[in-house]
Amino acid sequence: MADGYISVVGSLNYDILMKQERLPMQGETYTADSVSYEGGGKGANQAVQCAKLGVPTYMIGKVGSDNFGDILLEKLDGYGVHTDYVGRSSLNTGLGIVHVLNDGAVYASIITGANFDMTQEDIRQMEDIIFNSRIIILQMEIPVGIVEMIIKKAREHGVYVILNAAPAKEISKEALQRVDCLVVNETEASFYAGEEIKDAETARQHAHKLTELTNGTVIITLGKNGSILCDGNSCTFIPSVKVDAIETTGAGDSYIGAFAYGKYNGKSDEEACRFAARIAAVTVTKIGAQGAMPYLEEIE
Ligand code: ATP
Repeated sequence: MADGYISVVGSLNYDILMKQERLPMQGETYTADSVSYEGGGKGANQAVQCAKLGVPTYMIGKVGSDNFGDILLEKLDGYGVHTDYVGRSSLNTGLGIVHVLNDGAVYASIITGANFDMTQEDIRQMEDIIFNSRIIILQMEIPVGIVEMIIKKAREHGVYVILNAAPAKEISKEALQRVDCLVVNETEASFYAGEEIKDAETARQHAHKLTELTNGTVIITLGKNGSILCDGNSCTFIPSVKVDAIETTGAGDSYIGAFAYGKYNGKSDEEACRFAARIAAVTVTKIGAQGAMPYLEEIE
C-alpha cells in the first residue's frame, strides 16, 4: 500500500431505507416490507469504500449535533474512516428517505441539513489535512463554492482531484478545468455536455465535450451497461461485471472509492476503472450502500 492518505470532502446523510412492493397512492398509508437504517451521503459512501479497501481515508464534512450525527460518525469509525475533521452544525444531520421497490426501482428524497452548513472558514481551518492528501474526492452535495475553492487550492498544492459532479449543477469553468478526473453518470453527463448521453455509443460520441471542460480524464458510468473512460484522444469501454444485482444504491460511490484506491496505488486509469467495476459489482449484490461495499479481503 502506498504512503499518504485520501481526503473525501462531502456529504454525510442518515438514510432510512424501506423495501416495499410499490409506492403508496395519494392519501394511502402503505405498509412497507422491511426497513434498514444506513449511513449514506455520496461523500461518506465514497470514504467508506476507500477505507474498506485499506486506504487511510479522512472524511471532511458536517453533521448535526443530533443522534443521527452520532450514529453516522460511529458507523464511519467502524469502517476505519478518520472522522476527526467532521464538524458539528446547529442544523440537523442530512437525511435521506429511500423507497426500494421489489423490482429494484429506487425513489429517494433528501434533506441536505448540516451538509450545506460547511463554510470557507471551516475549510481554511483544515487546510493542512486537506491539501496534504495524495488524492481529494469531491461531490456536489455540499455548497458548490466550497467545491470550487478546494479544487483551486488542490491544484496549487499539486493534489490529484476526483470530482463526482453529482447531483449535476452549475460549477465554474475555471474549477472544472482544474479537475484531474471527472466522474458522472448518464444524467450528469448529459447536463454537462448539453447533449443526451444514454448509452455507450452516445457517451463516446459526446465525451469530447466533457474532456474539453476538464483537465483531461472523464469517466461516464452507465449502470449495468458499464462505463466509458475518456481522455482528450480516445475512449475505452469498461464492461460491467455480470452479477445478480439486488439493489444498486451506492454503485457509483463504490466505483469511485475503488477507482481512487487504484489511483492511490499507482494503477493506470484503465486498470483503476476495471478494478472499480469489479468492486461496484459486488456492492450491487447486497442491499444498502456502505454496508454492501466489499473489503479488500473479500475480493482477493
Ligand atoms: P448511484 O447514484 O446509485 O451510486 P450511479 O448512477 O452514480 O449510481 P452507476 O452508473 O449506476 O452509478 O454505476 C456505477 C458502476 O457500477 C457502473 O459503471 C458498473 O460498473 C457498476 N454497476 C452498476 N450497476 C450494476 C449492475 N447491475 N451490475 C453490475 N455492475 C453494476
